[in-house]
Amino acid sequence: MALTIYNTLGRNLQPFEPLIQGRAGFYGCGPTVYNYAHIGNLRAYVTHDILTRTLRRLGYEVTHVMNITDVGHLSGDNDEGDDKMVKSAGERGKSILEIADFYTKAFFNDTDRMNIGRPTVVCKATEHVGEMISLIERIEANGYTYSAGGNLYFDVGKFPYYGELALLRQDELKAGVRVEADQNKRNPQDFVLWFTKSKFEKQALVWDSPWGRGYPGWHIECSAMSMKYLGEQFDIHAGGIDHIPIHHTNEIAQSEAATGKHPWVKYWVHNEFLILNRGKMSKSSGGFLTLQSLVDAGYDPLDYRYFLLGGHYRSQLQFSWESLETAKNARRSLTERIRALVRAAGPKKQAVSGGGASYVAAFDRALEDDLSTPRALAELWGLIRDPALEPAEVLSRVLEMDGVLGLKLDSVIKEADRGEAPGLEGEIEKLIAERAEAKKAKDYAKADAIRAGLKERGIFLEDGPGGTVWRRV
Ligand code: AMP
Ligand code: ZN
Repeated sequence: MALTIYNTLGRNLQPFEPLIQGRAGFYGCGPTVYNYAHIGNLRAYVTHDILTRTLRRLGYEVTHVMNITDVGHLSGDNDEGDDKMVKSAGERGKSILEIADFYTKAFFNDTDRMNIGRPTVVCKATEHVGEMISLIERIEANGYTYSAGGNLYFDVGKFPYYGELALLRQDELKAGVRVEADQNKRNPQDFVLWFTKSKFEKQALVWDSPWGRGYPGWHIECSAMSMKYLGEQFDIHAGGIDHIPIHHTNEIAQSEAATGKHPWVKYWVHNEFLILNRGKMSKSSGGFLTLQSLVDAGYDPLDYRYFLLGGHYRSQLQFSWESLETAKNARRSLTERIRALVRAAGPKKQAVSGGGASYVAAFDRALEDDLSTPRALAELWGLIRDPALEPAEVLSRVLEMDGVLGLKLDSVIKEADRGEAPGLEGEIEKLIAERAEAKKAKDYAKADAIRAGLKERGIFLEDGPGGTVWRRV
């Protein structure tokens, strides 16, 4: 099995060949914890999760590192505006550490609810300022920095590969078409490595450094922490497409300027945006949807996961309540069919015939083909709908596939096995079981009455080779 992944660096599909055979070092940019994650952010983390799970299924030992940004991220990615953490703490009358702690917990509560696996390493920016300072010292020693107005800047003009990732052209960069707010910069794309209090009096968290008391720029944290945990060169770096032109471009420049090694990262993986009402969803613009707002509207976090898997990570995905409702119904029908299979399988739970292997192979091929979750989901549906397969065989293949999809189908199978099902679904299943008993006892009047009673409630029963399934009409 071999993974092919779209690499932003080169803009093409490339076979995944890690630096060390059998291992994959992966850094995904984590949240800035000044507010709840919005559902667009969660798309990025589901993408990272699918990538990690796919790599593990393919047999790689994955080290997945994620940072928590709790200092230095200004409202503009290009050093403009206020520190997001400082602003949020001020507005809420709390300390920065309280805000960071609260929203970090909220973030993992969301990702746990969506069954997004925890990264191997989670690292906070404020706990790695020493590593950032050491890295800046190396960049400075190699001649890529200048001081102006109290800040230390990275001089992009000195770095020959600047903009390679974003396909930015050096001559266009020099022309400096943008009106730059920071007059200290030699080039508009230069960025701050270290701020001193001369620029932001309001900054609450400051550290001593060779350049004065101050705090780090946002980009340096990802370079410092990824290299600390993954080495000076590693395999994969991921984030949303918004990070290509500034954040990731700057991460590459400063990392390679420090180490002199090119390329710093072999594969750059970027997810497209989740779009809401034909506009970008952003945390700083206020009105955004959180996972909790979906839960409050009656959706399970896994409905949202299922919705996301229905789109390829490199395509824009339009969020609407209607499409979330469609995802919810599809997931419910999936779990219902699985429960029916569990009933039909009885105590026999092991794969016996091997007939489901072709679906699993197609499933793997879909994921190996640049993580095509829509095609992978289609294979899952093909598998559970195949009347030629033994229920026990189907169930064990379902479990294999769910190792990557992460829809908690193992719990569905376990619950069904114990005869448990939530709420209305449980009641319907009990009636289906009673009807099956009645039919066995040739009490067709009772069986028909159960079917008719459910129909009156808008529940339609369908008898098939895998047992009886129900759907709403
Ligand atoms: P932030 O917390 O703002 O640093 O963003 C966290 C992650 O979410 C980053 O990888 C962003 O690129 C990504 N992201 C932000 N907005 C969206 C969106 N609307 N759809 C998908 N990913 C997004
Ligand atoms: Zn980052």
